[in-house]
Amino acid sequence: MIAFFPEIYPDELLYSQIARYHNRSGYARYVYTVSDIYQNGKLVHPNVDFVNKYTPDAMNWITKNDTWENIVFEHTMYPAYIRFLPKQRRIDAVNGILSCEGNWKNLMCIPLLNELRYIKYCPECVKEDREKYGETYWHRLHQIPRIRICPEHRCFLENSEIPVSSKSSPGLYDAENNIPNELKTRICKNGTEIAFTQYVIDVMQEPIDLNISLPIGTFLHSNLKSEYICKSGLVRNISKLYEDYLEFYNDMPTMELSYMQKIFNNYRYDTYFILQISFLLRISIYEITHLPHETYIQENKILYMSLAKKHNLDYNIVADICDTVLKTTYVSRKTGPKQLLYEELDNQYLPQVKRIVRRILNNKGRPEKVSFAKVQKALNLPQKQIHKLPKCKTYIQRNIESQPEYWAREIEWAVNELIKENKPLNTSRIMKLTNMRLRDIEISVSYIQNQEIQELVRELLSYRDI
Ligand SMILES: [Zn+2]
Repeated sequence: MIAFFPEIYPDELLYSQIARYHNRSGYARYVYTVSDIYQNGKLVHPNVDFVNKYTPDAMNWITKNDTWENIVFEHTMYPAYIRFLPKQRRIDAVNGILSCEGNWKNLMCIPLLNELRYIKYCPECVKEDREKYGETYWHRLHQIPRIRICPEHRCFLENSEIPVSSKSSPGLYDAENNIPNELKTRICKNGTEIAFTQYVIDVMQEPIDLNISLPIGTFLHSNLKSEYICKSGLVRNISKLYEDYLEFYNDMPTMELSYMQKIFNNYRYDTYFILQISFLLRISIYEITHLPHETYIQENKILYMSLAKKHNLDYNIVADICDTVLKTTYVSRKTGPKQLLYEELDNQYLPQVKRIVRRILNNKGRPEKVSFAKVQKALNLPQKQIHKLPKCKTYIQRNIESQPEYWAREIEWAVNELIKENKPLNTSRIMKLTNMRLRDIEISVSYIQNQEIQELVRELLSYRDI
């Protein structure tokens, strides 16, 4: 029976909280603590990075102030490993870790580091913790593989003597008793490493979208600048990219050229190396954590290639122009082949725009209103860019309803809902469902397309007059 359990600190590893419990429980022997905390305690190897199977009693204490999902996301290392896995593998790994069962460890992309890994700490964070809390703890963000510094204090992380390995003998070691009192700080002067480490940490703390299906290599490829792409738009100039990469991350851990190739071909998912490419290509934290839908990128690539062929232009020029039109507010008014390209783009996007508008208007549930913002979002275009494509713009404008037109569709929907649910029809029920005022219904009644419903609503309105 657990009588008390220490509260978890910000960004503390779950393992660290349990180790502090062990230290405070006064149990001289480790075996007593493990039988409180772990199922099959005697056989358990407490996991530093992730989770074990806990007793119901321990689970109650662990989730006393927060949901299990949040605890796992904020207090274990899993967000550092699974973000860029293929969709199904990502989902299986998350489900495995949440249930503490299954072979989630094999599903994750855990780098095979040559040397034995130890729990790391930042001397300056330790000093601050001791001042603030009277003790220190194992910080989660310091354990990200290959991370060597604390960006907050711009100093190097130090290794403790506690190994992170299932090969070492099992144990629960808290930070306070395993970090020396006298600490030396080694300052890091590499600006790139400080900025990149902050980038990795910021990405790690963003939510992970389990439904994204776009492979990370494909996304990175779509962000390659023209200097790394050959004329056909297909073959990457990977050796040039790799040279720039090595120069940029001088003095930091780097991958082999073959590993980089495998990332672009969607065979490897190491978070640190993927983020190195992403940071080098100046992809923002928002972009790398909110990947677009797969179809968008593929459709664009095919579109650019066909345009390049048709106008006998280099793929890179086409891609640059299209990106300028779609991704910045600047529009060149030059004539000639480039101007033709804008028109061509307009034509090419039109069917997609029509499809999206139809989908909004024919939505089965409660009616939705067409708007520029909605179409842009579905196409994954930045704000106001659709205005630069005249035919697309006109088509959307034609389908934007006046308020009474939209209300009329809402009324039709509400009447159908009430009929479906076998509820008596009256104006107050329609008002409640649609959030409209009686006056709004009166204004919109003549816009109702379905004649039967229109008459019915007129009748309901006339009852109120009597
Ligand atoms: Zn620090």
